[in-house]
Amino acid sequence: MRSPLRDAIGDKTAKVLEKGLGLRTCGDLLRHYPRRYVERGVLTPLGDLVEGEYVTVQAEVVSVKSRQIQNRRQPGRRGQTLTDVVVTDGSGRLRLSFFNQHWRGKQLAAGQQGLFAGKVGSFRGERQLVNPQTQLLDEESAVNERLLTGLISVYPAAAAAPSWTVAAAVRYALDQVDLDDDPIPADVRERHGLLPLAQAMRWVHIADTLDQAHRARTRLKWDEAFVMQTVLAQRRAAAVAQPAVPRPRRSGGLLEAFDDRLPFELTQGQREVSEEILADIAQEHPMHRLLQGEVGSGKTVVALRAMLAVVDAGGQAALLAPTEVLAQQHHRTITSLLGPLAQAGQLGGADVATRVALLTGSQGAQARRENLLDAASGAAGIVIGTHALLEENVQFADLGLVVVDEQHRFGVEQRDALRSKGNMPPHVLVMTATPIPRTVAMTVFGDLETSTLSELPGGRSPIQTNVVPVAEHPQWLERVWSRVQEEVSAGRQAYIVCARIGSDAKEDDGEATTYDEEDSEKRRPAAAVTDVLPMLVDGPLADLRLEMLHGQLPPDAKDDVMRRFAAGTVDVLVATTVVEVGVDVPNATVMVVLDADRFGVSQLHQLRGRVGRGEHPGLCLLVTDAQTGTPARERVDGVAATLDGFELARLDLEQRREGDVLGAVQSGRRSTLKLLRLLRDEPIIVAAREEATALVDADPTLSSYDALVEAVRALLDTERADYLEKA
Ligand code: ADP
Ligand code: MG
Repeated sequence: MRSPLRDAIGDKTAKVLEKGLGLRTCGDLLRHYPRRYVERGVLTPLGDLVEGEYVTVQAEVVSVKSRQIQNRRQPGRRGQTLTDVVVTDGSGRLRLSFFNQHWRGKQLAAGQQGLFAGKVGSFRGERQLVNPQTQLLDEESAVNERLLTGLISVYPAAAAAPSWTVAAAVRYALDQVDLDDDPIPADVRERHGLLPLAQAMRWVHIADTLDQAHRARTRLKWDEAFVMQTVLAQRRAAAVAQPAVPRPRRSGGLLEAFDDRLPFELTQGQREVSEEILADIAQEHPMHRLLQGEVGSGKTVVALRAMLAVVDAGGQAALLAPTEVLAQQHHRTITSLLGPLAQAGQLGGADVATRVALLTGSQGAQARRENLLDAASGAAGIVIGTHALLEENVQFADLGLVVVDEQHRFGVEQRDALRSKGNMPPHVLVMTATPIPRTVAMTVFGDLETSTLSELPGGRSPIQTNVVPVAEHPQWLERVWSRVQEEVSAGRQAYIVCARIGSDAKEDDGEATTYDEEDSEKRRPAAAVTDVLPMLVDGPLADLRLEMLHGQLPPDAKDDVMRRFAAGTVDVLVATTVVEVGVDVPNATVMVVLDADRFGVSQLHQLRGRVGRGEHPGLCLLVTDAQTGTPARERVDGVAATLDGFELARLDLEQRREGDVLGAVQSGRRSTLKLLRLLRDEPIIVAAREEATALVDADPTLSSYDALVEAVRALLDTERADYLEKA
């Protein structure tokens, strides 16, 4: 499988396949699976062709006409021959234009069927292929023999390597490559009714029936799931085998004192998850746990309790936040929840007290020095920061626990960088408010154990979400501003979120546009913070106190605005998605999102989670000019239709391309999944995970599974290569 293509199929074709499709080894070629299968004689619907795409169509010739065309530059000299061929699928038509291919006039005749491959263009409003690659179905040739019976496999192809060239090469390679070593052990195959590898490889490429192709594909999906789950099971096993300092719970310490002063009761979920975590960190092996919970489900308190237990046991805890705003907010929230418990060495500090240090990239030198010192000396039991925490000069006396907030913005590498700051591997807790469908969690965070907070703390008010379709009802925008007015008059506060900072600002909050494959050129630019603020101040919200918040303000200014908003001296915050994660102002009740269609599903859900956090009901207004029926509008309507984060996560995944979902969360992984789809193939992933886990438990080094070892190595190589490419 790893032998170079040219050894199996010859230099010339190998070059074509490498250049056109990036295929280098026999394995690459055999895993270049058909995109679809067509029955001989079943013509490709021509109405569906998309201009600019490279297609292979099966069609019937209607007419063939050759003529000379004038050479305009050199009149008088002989021009070119143009052979105009019209083909049909029975109803629609497609024009094929062959330039200077005189023989086509003889080769092609009405009534013949063939495969034609090329890039879809247009000429005078008609779809056409210019100089398409052509393969007639009744031609006698070695390549074609297969086409006479069974299904025709249609491959993702490129200009130099049409589908049938790939088909011929695959056929050749199938006879050369030894596929008897099967990475899926026989007993696993038997339990799940899976074909052996060699049979599956043959049938996926050369099938007589769709049933054969289907069984082959199921088996090959299993390959992908099973090998990946084996890697993850090995990672979990390796993590469990590492040593860590146990941090058992102690009475009479910070944790108890904190519980005593907590102004509310923990929910049952918070209690249970807390117990799980406290039990984990009391072990002699590092915890690797993912804490999932809806926005507002109270993850911070749960994490804080774990941090305090570690401090009680003599260690330190680090809390890593994705943005400065969030790091600062965490610092504020945690110091205020702790009160005198965070005032070690200060007048009024409690006996058991510790200190909470804050480290961000933009801090003044003096503050930074003090905080660095507190971290290094151990005076600070809790150290909160952004990426700045990862820098080399940040040292800890005894780092026992790393909490990563909002994991989706951190890579695994960063998690590892922090992990390496302890003398021994610290315990790791990853928190995410973006609910992840089970199979994605199993794949992307497959080396973590998972806890979920599913209820919201009592006393929460529901959030009502309305779509404001300004394309259909422009005057409804007025109503949006008057709703904001009403809420502020009632003593509440509002957010107004824009997709951009300003007309000429360099966009570094620019995470709004995640779906730009849709007609991006035709769109007007999204509303910008620096335009919307003056527009509101001079117009509909003239009486209110407005401020703006975005990623390009100096950090002090950001912090100042957030503070004043939290204190209630700012009524309306006009902001970018910097308010997306974690920002917590219970008195804010309205969230207006302008150009809501420019945001992703989980972003909208996160934004909505900023309101309804207190005793007053929340209102989320999603303003959009996207037309009903477009994917953009469906996304917005979908968010409005449910508050269930898991359902939205599914919607998100369905709307995005799979690779983007994975790619956004973790480098690697994407190019290794060819057939497996994380949503549709849930049963396969779940079953493969069980089998892989059992196998690794029984034989951690895979000593009696050579073919699996080989497959695991190949997967890791691919991931590494992808990672290096990205880095
Ligand atoms: P998230 O899971 O989004 O990080 P937070 O931890 O920020 O949620 O909690 C949201 C708000 O709910 C905070 O103001 C927090 O103090 C409060 N809270 C957390 N747990 C409870 C509880 N059990 N009862 C009431 N309020 C709670
Ligand atoms: Mg939070």
